[in-house]
Amino acid sequence: MAQTMKAAVIEKPERLVIKQVPVPEINDDEVLIKMKYTGICGTDWSIFTGKYSADRLPLIPGHEFSGNVAKVGKNAEGISEGDPVTADINMSCGHCFYCRRGQKLMCREFTQLGIHKDGSYAEYVKAPWEQVHVLPESLDMMTGAFIEPVSCVIHSAKAMKVEIGSSIAIIGSGLGVLHAAVARHRGAAPVIVIGRNDIKLKIAKEMGADFTINIKKEDPVETVRELTEGRGADYVVEAVGTPQTYEQAFEMVRPGGTVAAFGITGVDDIVRVKSFDLVLGEKNVAGSCAGVGKDWNDAIALLRYGRIRPESLFSMVVPLEDLQQALEQLRTDKSLFKVFVSSEIAERKIL
Ligand SMILES: [Zn+2]
Ligand SMILES: [Zn+2]
Repeated sequence: MAQTMKAAVIEKPERLVIKQVPVPEINDDEVLIKMKYTGICGTDWSIFTGKYSADRLPLIPGHEFSGNVAKVGKNAEGISEGDPVTADINMSCGHCFYCRRGQKLMCREFTQLGIHKDGSYAEYVKAPWEQVHVLPESLDMMTGAFIEPVSCVIHSAKAMKVEIGSSIAIIGSGLGVLHAAVARHRGAAPVIVIGRNDIKLKIAKEMGADFTINIKKEDPVETVRELTEGRGADYVVEAVGTPQTYEQAFEMVRPGGTVAAFGITGVDDIVRVKSFDLVLGEKNVAGSCAGVGKDWNDAIALLRYGRIRPESLFSMVVPLEDLQQALEQLRTDKSLFKVFVSSEIAERKIL
């Protein structure tokens, strides 16, 4: 096997270079994966612009991926060379206060592949074998690279404990459409998705929304109240990541309801919430950092059995060399959903 590989390295904010770097060396507890697809995520843009993980640069980003096992560490079980896989990107120390309570995401030494450690915008990535998931035969590799975002949405749905027959409003029609699909499977009704792009809102309906609200045409807070007999929704998911949309989330959730904090704002952004809403209104907040552990198995199950059909969200595949261009394009072309990167192709493919 070659000793070097092609990788996209963010050397410093706003500087992304494609270059040859050493192929990661694995220890006995790790697996080396030859990359097939990596999905571009908003977090990649935040790392590129220096808003996130700036202290980890230089870094190879990329954390939503699928590939085939190229090399297996001695201690790995149930994984063979050639297996199609993805990997849970969340790593923790395993022995601290949080890890012992099963709160891996709160671990003080918590790191994520592609965010704090080198990820998958390269020809190879390594991952601890215990976090590698072999893909079922019926899952294609592109869907395999989509398990991570689905696991995050599942984690959030579990955190807010959506109950059967409860109303839910989702702010944001990016990953928001996945929230709609998962909410519907949890028995929520009605499911309302709020966005600004009619193409995405149409997909939201196909994925499970009963109603969509285009903020260019309607006031979202008022419309959600109208759709919920004047009360506000039982659950509101914030899946945009701005202080304004967080404030709207607290306005449109009913007293006693729950706001799911999902969208990532800037590090120092502050959200203003009326303390009366929390005390007298008993409004709750359910944070969720990432999909972890069993969330990945659950995501695989929903995708494998067609409960979530993500194909209509897949927009295009671009070569690794086009990563920066694709990152920029995703900022301006709001009709794009999921764009994948592959180091194996030379030209973009529209899906
Ligand atoms: Zn992501
Ligand atoms: Zn720990």
